[in-house]
Amino acid sequence: MSTATSAPSPAGFAEPAPSALLLLGRGVDLASERGVECVGDLPSPSDPDLVERARVARAALGDRAFILGHHYQRDEVIDFADVTGDSFKLAREAAARPDAEFVIFCGVHFMAESADILTSDTQQVILPDLAAGCSMADMAAIDQVEDAWDVLVDAGVAESTVPVTYMNSTAAIKAFTGRHGGTICTSSNAHVALRWAFDQVGGVDGTGKVLFMPDQHLGRNTAVLELGLSLDDCVVFDPRKPNGGLTTEELKAARMILWRGHCSVHGRFSERNVTDIRAAAPGVTVLVHPECKHEVVNAADMVGSTEYIIRALDAAPAGSVWAIGTELNLVRRLAAAHPDKQVHYLDSTVCFCSTMNRIDLPHLVWAMESLVAGRTVNQIVVDADDAHWARVALDQMLALPGY
Ligand code: SF4
Repeated sequence: MSTATSAPSPAGFAEPAPSALLLLGRGVDLASERGVECVGDLPSPSDPDLVERARVARAALGDRAFILGHHYQRDEVIDFADVTGDSFKLAREAAARPDAEFVIFCGVHFMAESADILTSDTQQVILPDLAAGCSMADMAAIDQVEDAWDVLVDAGVAESTVPVTYMNSTAAIKAFTGRHGGTICTSSNAHVALRWAFDQVGGVDGTGKVLFMPDQHLGRNTAVLELGLSLDDCVVFDPRKPNGGLTTEELKAARMILWRGHCSVHGRFSERNVTDIRAAAPGVTVLVHPECKHEVVNAADMVGSTEYIIRALDAAPAGSVWAIGTELNLVRRLAAAHPDKQVHYLDSTVCFCSTMNRIDLPHLVWAMESLVAGRTVNQIVVDADDAHWARVALDQMLALPGY
């Protein structure tokens, strides 16, 4: 993401410069994760009839609509979800409902794009609030990624590099991955995807490379903890610096070229949080998401995807004590679902995913009532060429061992 700068105004005050992030309500950028559009009147959050309006609209849509709720969504939205899950599970669930005319995706923009790619042309994917983007996905713009590939070409390493892209990316980046013979991965199968990618260029013990985007932490944690590579095998490509801030020699020596991106929620957990919770809750098992920093994952007892975290809590014995390092909405629901266990949040100062939380009941009601009235709103449509190549990369993931 580019850094905002300021220029002096005629009065001598610094004018705010164009920001990488659009301010809410100030514009729309449908080509990226950034955008705001909500034509018509939103119901008031304090409307006492809001839940009833949601029930009426949901009943009126019936089987014409299928509502997906990501694990990090608010309870008020999850209450109306037909299915909950992580991003890829939800996209597959949408694809498995070809009769649903409308897929209402209560998640963030890249997830709705994936659903549009995997569903048929006759289905419409709706994102109730277009401001529900993902800061991580926005950290890898397609122009930046294409420039980075040119750097690899100039360094003479592109031919021995396979792109592996996390689901949390725009459709354009997924398409880039498909065009360059790579694969998509999730936080559940990143180790399988990395092994496959290295196998395309001589194996994990060879000299080939992976360009991992956009989450440096998932890439590093997987390469080091699951594939046995070293931290010295990893370099970070910073798209804001010339040549990614790397020399040709560094690129040639690297095995993992990690895009400089991270999750603004998981990236906030610290090693200190782990130390503190161990002191506060003796016997605690610390379980974190692999989007956390490497030192946090190292300090934790267990690491895994949201689905893994849910299964671990389900399987845990009564009386066990847990500290969970992932999004707060999910941890709160886990605590409520397991009253026989102590479930702590790893850091009480880490907040919800703010963009995910843009989807609230007023937006869901607005989207459903609009559909009932015959007006499609906030439809997410991926460009046909990007959709084709993104599908190639997604299909490669589905063909990985274990899928
Ligand atoms: S939790 Fe992180 S990766 Fe997930 S949508 Fe929010 S910012 Fe993006």
